[in-house]
Amino acid sequence: MVIGVLVEISNKNVDKVFDYLVPPELEKFVKVGMRVLVPFGSRTLEGFVLEIKKESSDRELREVLEIVDQEIVLNEELLLLGKKMQKKTLSSLISCYQVMLPKALKAKKGGKVSIRYDTFYHLSPSCLLSSFSFTQPQEKIIQLLQEKGTVLKKELVSISSSSLQTLIKRGILVEEKKEHYRLSHEAETEEKKVLTEEQRQVVEKVIQNPPKPYLLFGVTGSGKTEVYMEIIDYYLKQGKSSIVLVPEISLTPQMIQRFRKRFGSAIATIHSGLSDGEKYDEWRKIARGEVSIVIGARSAIFAPLSNLGVIIVDEEHSDSYKQSDSNPRYQAKEIALWRGENHHASVIFGSATPSLETMARVPKLYELLELPHRINGKELPKVTVVDMNQSFKETRGHFSKVLMNSIVEKTSRGEQVILLLNRRGYASFVTCKNCGYTFKCPKCDITLTYHKTSSTLRCHYCGYGGKVYEKCPACGENSLSSLGVGTQRIEEELQKAIPSLRILRMDYDTTSKKGMHEAMIEAFQNHEYDVLLGTQMVAKGLDFPNVTLVGVIQADTTLNIPDFRSSENTFSLLSQVSGRSGRSHKEGLVIIQTFNPDHYAIRCAQNYDYLSFYQKEMAIRKELKYPPYFYLCLIQISGRDPSYLYQESLKIKHSLERNLVSDIILGPSNSFLFKVNNRYRYHVIIKYKKEDTLYPILEKIVSFYQSNSRVQIDIDFQPIHI
Ligand code: ADP
Ligand code: ZN
Repeated sequence: MVIGVLVEISNKNVDKVFDYLVPPELEKFVKVGMRVLVPFGSRTLEGFVLEIKKESSDRELREVLEIVDQEIVLNEELLLLGKKMQKKTLSSLISCYQVMLPKALKAKKGGKVSIRYDTFYHLSPSCLLSSFSFTQPQEKIIQLLQEKGTVLKKELVSISSSSLQTLIKRGILVEEKKEHYRLSHEAETEEKKVLTEEQRQVVEKVIQNPPKPYLLFGVTGSGKTEVYMEIIDYYLKQGKSSIVLVPEISLTPQMIQRFRKRFGSAIATIHSGLSDGEKYDEWRKIARGEVSIVIGARSAIFAPLSNLGVIIVDEEHSDSYKQSDSNPRYQAKEIALWRGENHHASVIFGSATPSLETMARVPKLYELLELPHRINGKELPKVTVVDMNQSFKETRGHFSKVLMNSIVEKTSRGEQVILLLNRRGYASFVTCKNCGYTFKCPKCDITLTYHKTSSTLRCHYCGYGGKVYEKCPACGENSLSSLGVGTQRIEEELQKAIPSLRILRMDYDTTSKKGMHEAMIEAFQNHEYDVLLGTQMVAKGLDFPNVTLVGVIQADTTLNIPDFRSSENTFSLLSQVSGRSGRSHKEGLVIIQTFNPDHYAIRCAQNYDYLSFYQKEMAIRKELKYPPYFYLCLIQISGRDPSYLYQESLKIKHSLERNLVSDIILGPSNSFLFKVNNRYRYHVIIKYKKEDTLYPILEKIVSFYQSNSRVQIDIDFQPIHI
């Protein structure tokens, strides 16, 4: 017997499948999708068995050393999914398989995780106790076992192990081991909510229609989660399983709690907050069919459930569903659609602010489901926009009088406040502290990025470069600055103004330790603090009934990020964070501070007017040829020698121009993060409408550079940031 084994041998994007001979004693155990240990040159490597055949055309075959697992790691569906992903993303097949699996099951030596066992004992059913004589401790054990049937090893700590061993040797006692999962959850029971008429209609439509993709467009607090649970429950009763994707599970502990309460031990979770051992155990529960519901972040889309009834992607507009930082650069929403087709399952994309790409596919590809009202007909909180151009002149601080007064008023009544300071550290751009002016690319309408070393402003889409001015061209003041303000400074400023205020700061610095995030949420929920101040992580999914004021310190920070999606992201973030206010019976208020009070993203968020925003933004995208009117493909060219890389990037651009006459090719330009770890990155961007001509030329480029160690090519289709 010969098998084809796929191994990973370098980080370059190369696949290697080699034939190996299976020794006769292993033949009956080897199956496609298992991991095996094979010799490779002078090393031994792990690989996946991709095929089993009678013979090989290779002359000198080496033998398989070992089978790594007793169970199949990649089932038939995952094997096919990997191949499809490889074709779509132009990354290596091995990377597509590795990304699906928890660390413990990847084909890599080292990083092995142990299975935990419980050891227990019972009496051998075939032995006649009366034919033996026993010591006193042995009598004690036998008596215990006669009473209880089985006993765990840890219940016998007081008994000497020699007594135990003697009983086992004489065939009186049987020792057994049973796998013990690291995570386990008792079912709690929660009384089910009676669905509103709107919710009921959504549920009925999904379960009565033949399976298909949907967009569930429901305002914040409209009861989407309740709808998901009802649909999942329906499929559960039909014997079908479900996947629920959430942006980042550690950021949505409240939602997980609700699922746990309703479905208890039928759930497995997959996310970055788990240890390798926990992930391994959760995966095995899923593969063995011991759970029917998987909740998790992006990679949970690969959960090896069989018989899927529904796949739900909550907060579908979130960036986190795209793997952006390493190969394969896959979009989990696309995988959800593929798996939906494989299983004849419905796919539901849910959001209060659907991405333009998703909304643009309604009704042709996705059927629209709507929840336009909050539960109990509650009004969405009133939003006040404060013009910081005025306020900054008056106060010279980051808090307007309106916001400061409202914080005092709400907290003195025993109500709580959420403050959002959205700051993304990786981009620096120049902005006027006096009037909020920012420099934009004349061709791409993108905020220019500040390059400190050359003191220039650059467009990282098309490469346009400009000089940094001394004075603001809009207001003439000498107040240009390339520095953002951090949460810590905001905290200090607020504390100084109101010394008695109990402020809880939540950002990546204060939540990096495991469990901190949950602990903070709990402390705020218990009203140990008056104000929760933080980055984007305070904006999403949280449900605190006592919060009646949400303040946005600087709406402009998102607006100025050099990205064609910056307006969309601003609108979405403001809508999400507004939804955190006034969720219970107390009336809510939202205050947005901005230097751009008339910007449509801010105006539309103020009025909860998704449709106007959508129309305005679609018109801009059309004019500037951005998605969803054009698709994007980003080619990253990286290596150590910038001038050589630039030269190769130009060659790539020219060959694309020759081959893709009807597409738009931009660049080469410096990437956002131009120099990382002494490696430089250039970008060439393709705006295209049809992919049939694109793939062949890209495949050629990738294979051309495969043997060139000075150039690394990475391709990102539909990138999140360009
Ligand atoms: P969304 O996910 O759309 O933001 P949720 O599902 O979190 O909305 O619902 C908002 C709040 O309303 C939650 O506290 C939830 O428990 C409650 N809720 C949802 N549906 C109902 C219902 N049918 N009856 C009563 N309360 C409900
Ligand atoms: Zn440009």
